Amino acid sequence: MSERVVITGAAGFIGSHLAEELLNRGYSVIGIDNLLTGDTANIAHLRNRDFEFIKHDVTNYIYIEGPVHYVLHWASPASPIDYLELPIPTLKVGALGTHKALGLAKAKNARFVIASTSEVYGDPLEHPQKETYWGNVNPIGPRGVYDEAKRFAEAITVAYHRFHGLDTKIVRIFNTYGPRMRIRDGRAVPAFISQALRNEKVTVFGDGRQTRSFCYITDLVDGIIRLMLSDTNDPVNIGNPAEMTIEEIARVIIEMTGSTSQIVYHPLPEDDPKVRRPDITRARTLLGWEPKVDLRAGLTSTIEYFRTKV
Ligand code: UDP
Repeated sequence: MSERVVITGAAGFIGSHLAEELLNRGYSVIGIDNLLTGDTANIAHLRNRDFEFIKHDVTNYIYIEGPVHYVLHWASPASPIDYLELPIPTLKVGALGTHKALGLAKAKNARFVIASTSEVYGDPLEHPQKETYWGNVNPIGPRGVYDEAKRFAEAITVAYHRFHGLDTKIVRIFNTYGPRMRIRDGRAVPAFISQALRNEKVTVFGDGRQTRSFCYITDLVDGIIRLMLSDTNDPVNIGNPAEMTIEEIARVIIEMTGSTSQIVYHPLPEDDPKVRRPDITRARTLLGWEPKVDLRAGLTSTIEYFRTKV
């Protein structure tokens, strides 16, 4: 019989790609989502596979019948605009939801993987960011609801590992893009692509000199599955170290879409990190992982997807 994987947040951008790739690799997948920011359209094509969908809010008790081998806790609003609008659900799913997902893993003696984030490093004072860096987070700033929920999620995950002996993994996910991001997601790549495709003004926040490092979704999913199957219990950064400014990526997107859009500059949101780039030495050495898809190849598929949506 196939090993069974429970994915919370399975109707989201990353959750749905993870579900699909695990099905391709022969796992049986149970997807849970309350559809707050997820969408069943992302998983509709999985209907006739070894996939079961449960609509449920994982801040409440999670009941699954039969064996479970892996629990992947992906549920959370994840775009800065979402967690500004949904501060309390964001805190609850990171705290209460992680507790419930850990409880399920413990009851089933399953491996547990938590989706953590580069946001645990806050507005980083160390660059690039290694897993040993503790971060520079404002707990009461607008991003604090997400950053602190994820920091709590890491803390409770490690506590279940140390105290209950649960086999736990922590993946710190850096900026990722690809098909199935929502047009109104608010994050830079989907915002710029949808604005460029409509020949509307492309909204760069601040002076556009802040940096990010963008990873294509298939590379991220490959890294997550390698971590899930690895022996390590330490946090691992997964992201593409190719760093660029936000203005640069806006210009690449305008050029690749053949758009007539102009850039407009809006005020920089509070606590917006000035730089971000993963140090991926740990992923390279422990997982043999390396991103393979370069920015232009990844953007080509992403733009193709957005053309069908705008
Ligand atoms: N950004 C921007 N215009 C937008 C959306 C985002 O200039 O329409 C900027 C944002 O201020 C940040 C960077 O792009 O500096 C990446 O933002 P995103 O929301 O994608 O995620 P973050 O990396 O901040 O979590």
